Amino acid sequence: MRLPERVVVGDDLLGTVGDEIREVREAKRALVITGPNVGRMFGEVVGRSLRDAGLDHGILIVDSPTKDEARRAAERAREFDVIIGLGGGKPIDVAKYAAHLAGIWFASVPTSAAHDGIASPMASLKDSDAPYSEMMSPPRIVIADIRAISSSPPNLSRSGFGDLLAKVTATKDWRLAKVEVGEYYGEYAAHLALLSAQVVMSNRKLIGRMDEDGIRVLVEALISAGVAAGIAGSSRPCSGSEHLISHALDIISQGKGLHGEKVGISTTIAARLHGMNWRRILRALDDVGAPTSFGQLGIAREEVCRAIVMAPSIRPNRYTILHKVRPDHAQACSLVDELGVA
Ligand SMILES: [Zn+2]
Repeated sequence: MRLPERVVVGDDLLGTVGDEIREVREAKRALVITGPNVGRMFGEVVGRSLRDAGLDHGILIVDSPTKDEARRAAERAREFDVIIGLGGGKPIDVAKYAAHLAGIWFASVPTSAAHDGIASPMASLKDSDAPYSEMMSPPRIVIADIRAISSSPPNLSRSGFGDLLAKVTATKDWRLAKVEVGEYYGEYAAHLALLSAQVVMSNRKLIGRMDEDGIRVLVEALISAGVAAGIAGSSRPCSGSEHLISHALDIISQGKGLHGEKVGISTTIAARLHGMNWRRILRALDDVGAPTSFGQLGIAREEVCRAIVMAPSIRPNRYTILHKVRPDHAQACSLVDELGVA
């Protein structure tokens, strides 16, 4: 099991990042990897906290989560003892991969809650050989400032909600893989991932309103889902057929929609194939204010049909309901029409 050593969730924590880092390990130099906007908003308060804790620091602004960016970050990181990923998914993914390459540890300081990479060992980078997330090491420390996350754009939190709904079908796919192809199935990790979906379902109205209590639940659930992946030693509890459809859309309709938005809608398709109550999933997305159709993301019906057909080939060895059913183009389109998600 690969888990974070320390997880701190609370208000106004950005000013304590330096002390938290020192608490976990002796460090003298920290490289802060962040995005342009987050860097402008929070770079100064984090920088001050590092200086006050006696840490020298450098700042690296990343625009997109590519392997090239991560390699450049890893080169720069060799002069440092620790990397701090400050921001949404992109800087944290780059920090995770750069820390892996540079052989140093990293801290995850999310300022939005758009997906479950906050505390997980998985990193998802563009221009990767694999169009899905790869296993790295989890952050050694996670510092989640609820006040900062509550002030992030609401569509990011709604995307995080969609990424958590996915655990309903991801765990079902994992169980199916045990029954059909004898794959290892970790019941504890599966239950933990499923719990993260259930708890955000119960709090969806609060999350949709960006209420701080709701955002705290969302953040804790995203951290728990990442921990479930750390316990399983793979992304299995978090990522199933719904993620494969979303990954296929990343290829077919590049740059449209956030990860969790695509995954949330795809979960209704996976749920329908599993014979589960897909209307409940769609209603939950609607209640939280997340998109309920791919059209809202600018993705055409035809592209969704193609993505469903392509999805099993994204990971041929990760058995899911799509590998069992293998819908053809006409079946995929009628599925999309039946659910009304085009
Ligand atoms: Zn995901």
